[in-house]
Amino acid sequence: MEIFITLSKFIQVFFIGLFGLIMGSFISLVSHRLVSKEAMLLARSKCVHCNSKLKIRSLVPIFSWIIQRGKCLNCSKKISIRYPLIEFFCALGFLLTYIALDYKIDLKFMFYLAIFVTMFIMVVVDLEHYFIPDILQFILVFIVTLLTIHNGGLNSIYDGLKPALAFVAFGFAIWIFFYYSAGIDGIGIDDFKFFLIAGFMLSLNNFILFMFLSGIIGALFGAVWQKLKKDETFPFAPAICLSAYLCLLIGKPVIY
Ligand SMILES: [Zn+2]
Repeated sequence: MEIFITLSKFIQVFFIGLFGLIMGSFISLVSHRLVSKEAMLLARSKCVHCNSKLKIRSLVPIFSWIIQRGKCLNCSKKISIRYPLIEFFCALGFLLTYIALDYKIDLKFMFYLAIFVTMFIMVVVDLEHYFIPDILQFILVFIVTLLTIHNGGLNSIYDGLKPALAFVAFGFAIWIFFYYSAGIDGIGIDDFKFFLIAGFMLSLNNFILFMFLSGIIGALFGAVWQKLKKDETFPFAPAICLSAYLCLLIGKPVIY
């Protein structure tokens, strides 16, 4: 009996990892096309240098990039390491979610993955273009609303308003801190919108953990970013999205 349980878990891990890799490719594609305003889904993937349509064997997550040694098969120009990196971290995120939710594949698990994918696209766009598209914030609100109803019924939507405002107030406090200590806009308008959703999603129960994590991750990330990019402003989405998702996985249960 024991061995069957182990075997079925092993198969689940395999397929969730695979699903994560495929969704990683999807994140790469969507984050690129959201900004370039290209057709989202129907158009075949192309090489960014020579525009040649990619063959099926070039579309296998991570492995294609490794086998082709990071070069386009047609023009031999370099293919960014963003593709295998995003695919890897997406698969990793999916597997960690599976573990954090006690190896259960249910509706809650699917909601979590949808939240993870949406926030991952936010992070990639913010890293590459310094903004979070509104459409992603709307999609995130929509998924979080469904999750909230799934967890606590329709009434819990109203209860989520108070923590949402508390999180925005926290965002404002960080903004004041950065503005008066370093003279920079540490937080943009897109980040404030995200704080609203994070409060709704995490409730006051996770307020301190979220403050703590986003403060530490934000400071570390900002220091590394300024060293590498020599840029005063740095994208804040990586810190707040990672913190929010960690709170969702390892934080306290959401109670308004
Ligand atoms: Zn090419």
